[in-house]
Amino acid sequence: MKETKRTPVLPPLLLAPLCALTLFAGSAFGEELKRPNLKIRGIYGGIPYFSEEDKRPLEELGVNAIFLGSGSITAEKVEYVKSQGVKFFAEFNTLHVASYLKDHPDAAPVGTDGSVSPPPHDWQGICPTHDAYRKHRMDAFRDLLVRFPLDGIWLDYHHAHASWERADPEMPDTCFCDRCLSRFTEDTGVYLPEGSVEEKTGLLLGDLNQAWVQWRCDVFTSWVREFRSIIDETRPGTLLGTFHNPWTDSDYEGARLKKLAIDLKAQAHYVDVFSPMPYHARFGHVTDPQWISRQVKWLGDYLGLTGQKGEAKKIWPIVQLSDWGEKVSPDQVVQVLEEGTAPPASGVIIFAWGSLRKQHEKVEQIWPFYRQIR
Ligand SMILES: [Zn+2]
Repeated sequence: MKETKRTPVLPPLLLAPLCALTLFAGSAFGEELKRPNLKIRGIYGGIPYFSEEDKRPLEELGVNAIFLGSGSITAEKVEYVKSQGVKFFAEFNTLHVASYLKDHPDAAPVGTDGSVSPPPHDWQGICPTHDAYRKHRMDAFRDLLVRFPLDGIWLDYHHAHASWERADPEMPDTCFCDRCLSRFTEDTGVYLPEGSVEEKTGLLLGDLNQAWVQWRCDVFTSWVREFRSIIDETRPGTLLGTFHNPWTDSDYEGARLKKLAIDLKAQAHYVDVFSPMPYHARFGHVTDPQWISRQVKWLGDYLGLTGQKGEAKKIWPIVQLSDWGEKVSPDQVVQVLEEGTAPPASGVIIFAWGSLRKQHEKVEQIWPFYRQIR
């Protein structure tokens, strides 16, 4: 969940036929698209027109939820948003606070050869069993809840050391630090024979792989359980959400579980809202926005959710309208929103205001869409 200032890689010449195709495919927007179960119309990464002289009320735009990174939240912003009856959600970085490693190098994830695993594409993860790091994040999470009357907190980067927010992910096998290896044995009762690091990691990725994958998933789930208990103690009723990888169990050979250690079914015991991140352009599906609704539909089936009123758990995908690596054409705005609001989604979030705000052609299509479905 990053915003970058990288130049779009799709040449303008290629865009023209794509736009024509999208228009030809037709849009239901003109035909009064109905989304009766869609309750949340969100914006991520900024409050539209908040810093402008001439503020436009969020209600007038059709927006009823704002998602901001926890580091950029102020009492003034919370007050501005909530005074309009709009919900305020924080995004919270769990396992990607790279600066922590400066003073705590022993929290760096370790690779199969026993040495520190370099950050793939500069995405630095942290060892998930480093107790002091975990406490550092739990304290920050509690502090956020104490300071602000938030409607919810969304976990972000809650996965193993990897770079997956792109079409060509890089997901090294980690973390094989001494702490993780002994914790694995302690928790599972599975002993690793004496031998070299390579022998041990070979076993964990070979004969013992099932136990290893499950244990890693359980470690990440235990963080989620702790976040939940902090909410219940500190500010009960606050929603716990998660921005997570949008892949199915078979995408990239099961990497969501096997590499990233994201066990959504187990996390569902503690999470209220799932926000998959089907960034269609970023992930190599710029010509196929329907990929968005297919991934979300898969998640609904997987978790047994239909998006109907009264369900205990919700799915609110976050969809890409800003340019990130791949450009999202203005002609795609409505279709992306249609795909992102289709059941089982009962809310949608737009990524991301920071760079989108300067793209008026796109922005001015969002508000009518949001107003129409409210
Ligand atoms: Zn470790």
